[in-house]
Amino acid sequence: MDWDDNAQESEFRAQVRTFIAEHGAKQRAGDGEESFGNSPEVRARTKPWRDALVANGWIAPAWPKSYGGAGMSPKEQFILNEELAENGLSNVGGFGVMMLGPTLMIHGDEEQKAEHLGKILAGEVVWAQGWSEPSAGSDLASLQTRAKRDGDEYVVNGQKIWTSGAQHADWIYMLARTDPDAPKHRGISLLMFSMRTPGVDVRPLINMADQHGFNEVFFEDVRVPVKNRLGEENRGWYVGMTLTDYERSGIGSAVGTQRRLKQLLDVSRTDPQAKQAEGTRSKSWRLYFADRWIEAEIARLFSYLNISIQARNLVPNYEASMSKLYTTELGQRIAHTALKMYGLQGMAWDAKRPENGRGRVATGYLSAVSSTIAGGTSEIQRGIIATRGLGLPRG
Ligand SMILES: Cc1cc2nc3c(=O)[nH]c(=O)nc-3n(C[C@H](O)[C@H](O)[C@H](O)COP(=O)(O)OP(=O)(O)OC[C@H]3O[C@@H](n4cnc5c(N)ncnc54)[C@H](O)[C@@H]3O)c2cc1C
Repeated sequence: MDWDDNAQESEFRAQVRTFIAEHGAKQRAGDGEESFGNSPEVRARTKPWRDALVANGWIAPAWPKSYGGAGMSPKEQFILNEELAENGLSNVGGFGVMMLGPTLMIHGDEEQKAEHLGKILAGEVVWAQGWSEPSAGSDLASLQTRAKRDGDEYVVNGQKIWTSGAQHADWIYMLARTDPDAPKHRGISLLMFSMRTPGVDVRPLINMADQHGFNEVFFEDVRVPVKNRLGEENRGWYVGMTLTDYERSGIGSAVGTQRRLKQLLDVSRTDPQAKQAEGTRSKSWRLYFADRWIEAEIARLFSYLNISIQARNLVPNYEASMSKLYTTELGQRIAHTALKMYGLQGMAWDAKRPENGRGRVATGYLSAVSSTIAGGTSEIQRGIIATRGLGLPRG
């Protein structure tokens, strides 16, 4: 595939750059707050940026125009994501834009589409994803939360865990078992309901970086109208999995990775504390840093690979796993490189004052741990590469 922009793509890139120059200052993405940190303050602060994206039709680049999206080709999405990530900007879509919207387009009835799609695009309703449970993560089909039919309603009882942003979400889409006697993939349905429905209880989980990103969510006799089921009863597994094959290219995270390295380079040259630190001055750190630089280039090539597959109207499979595995493990190595830069001082951690340079490094190191777990662990990605990519026999 030719990665140079053709005339039309150059024009589009110029358009994106003009847009960023005009509106980018409205939202400089904070540390990962863009997707999940939908607190009222963040929502209010990022509203002008969201409104600018909405006005331009870029809030949902991949959605078809008929549903209010931008209907961009994979290459155009790549250009948009690349330019946003280069500038540290996010597309503020969250689960609604990334996951639920496209699933609704395929499996939703007209009433459901009319009710939800517009609100997702306008950012009026923020969604949480209720997949994982204490005993169902990698093996998600083992989930035990029950939804028992009672006339026109389901009565939901059970528990979800690691539910990102549930403390701020307005609605949740979740998987629950509607037929406990069916084989495990066949007795599951996908339900959508307001987080304010009686019986929904959100309890915070604080991660080791002292951040409140995810939660436990308990359901006790939560009554959900049957019309809020997405897709057929007991076919929810297949509805829910519709999108997992449509992996994103990872270009945002690959470019974000390079951006973090450039910032680190800048700090190592300009911050007096960093310049003096034992890590920065050591030869081994410089070699370590050079390795990261090369790896970041490789991460970018992995995303190019995925985009080139999408551009041929195919869905990346084990290739998306290679990109996810490589980029997230690299993210952890970069966090470690930043920590080493400051030497022992890098471990001085003041979580309440992350604006303090060294504090940010330590917090970043702790936060990076979860990236190889969220969205499918590194072991699961390796399993996919081994079996689907290399054709090795299943264990
Ligand atoms: C930051 C973050 C945000 C998250 N947000 C959400 C969210 O919003 N909604 C949601 O539903 N979930 C969310 N999750 C949960 C996430 O999807 C699960 O943590 C993930 O799927 C792993 O499941 P688990 O934690 O139950 O670990 P387990 O599946 O119990 O795995 C434990 C260990 O065993 C290994 N393992 C398991 N199975 C295999 C296998 N077949 N082969 C080899 N090794 C294996 C795993 O790699 C891991 O090391 C989030 C997680 C994180 C870290």
